[in-house]
Amino acid sequence: MNKSYTFSIDVASRCNLKCPSCPQANGRNSTRNELMQPELLDSILKKATGECKISFIYLYDWAEPFLNPELPELINVVNSYDIPCGISSNLHIMRNMERVIANNPANFVISTSGFTQYTYSKMHKGGNIEKVKQNMQLLAEMKKRTNSRTRIEVNYIRYLGNLDELVLMRDFAISLGFAFRQTIAALFPLEKLLVYLSDPIAREEIKKNEKELLDILLFPYEELLSVARLFKRFPCSFLEDQIVINARCEVQLCPLVYDPFRFRIVDFLSESFDAIQQLKRKHEFCKSCIDKGIHTLGLRFGPDLKPAVYKRVAQYYTNAGVNFRKPALSWPNQVVRLFKEYARRSAALQKLSEKDLSKFPPLSRFIGNIFS
Ligand code: SF4
Repeated sequence: MNKSYTFSIDVASRCNLKCPSCPQANGRNSTRNELMQPELLDSILKKATGECKISFIYLYDWAEPFLNPELPELINVVNSYDIPCGISSNLHIMRNMERVIANNPANFVISTSGFTQYTYSKMHKGGNIEKVKQNMQLLAEMKKRTNSRTRIEVNYIRYLGNLDELVLMRDFAISLGFAFRQTIAALFPLEKLLVYLSDPIAREEIKKNEKELLDILLFPYEELLSVARLFKRFPCSFLEDQIVINARCEVQLCPLVYDPFRFRIVDFLSESFDAIQQLKRKHEFCKSCIDKGIHTLGLRFGPDLKPAVYKRVAQYYTNAGVNFRKPALSWPNQVVRLFKEYARRSAALQKLSEKDLSKFPPLSRFIGNIFS
């Protein structure tokens, strides 16, 4: 009875950009243009709060929420239920921005992937980073002017080639009083990733069609499967703890799958919450997803995958001409370095305690330097 759920409710059905890692760029949904009305959101929340406890409502899943001109009213509807809500945007549409920020959504995520147009436009196709930066400044001013309590954070999506610009964007975000976090670009949606990982013939086809994207993804998909299988006994939190509803009020299986026809469960208002959860659990797709273990690992890399990621990064920058070797040292410096290396490995020196060292101040200074 005390369990609480998060809801992801898409208040629009489209996005204004065509990012290559997002199914909105070429998905089957792209011809539809639906916008959720405040009255419908109110009916959804009236039913939902009568059936379960809600800890947070994301007013987005795959779509850009600012495409909906009623966004300030939609936030007000959530506020009237005393539930915190979050929005996420690529920050190209500033319509109603001051009213949105004045209505105090708990969290506002700005999605970026570069600091210069060359880098940004690779992952945010159709976007303009100078416009985003200008809008970030306007947003910071609006937040100040309206005394908004909204937490604004920049989400930097990393891929091979944009890691150096991350520092520039982080400093810019912090200078405006925004929080900063990093995620990774991935092969989306989950139905495509599962095909890529489990069907060798389809994989070759995807590799051919999406070479540009796959070449710059940080995620070591080849290594993923062997690690992911270890996690198949864990339950799926997307399945058990989250409800996803599209702009038509249809429940979708989970936030990681996209195809609105294949993964539609039922109209949210037509079935009870418990019946909806039962229907979700019966979906054939979850079985193969859990069987491969990617429901826990599909979007993050744990310690087992990190070496493969570092290798990819080092390889990429080496190919791009970055020299990771230290510059040659003059011979006196080489002697000092060798001596320090010897001292660092010497078991006898390692055994000297601070007390021993304090008896010989000159040695202490010397050893101290060696170990520094
Ligand atoms: S098992 Fe996979 S498809 Fe099913 S809800 Fe979890 S992440 Fe989504």
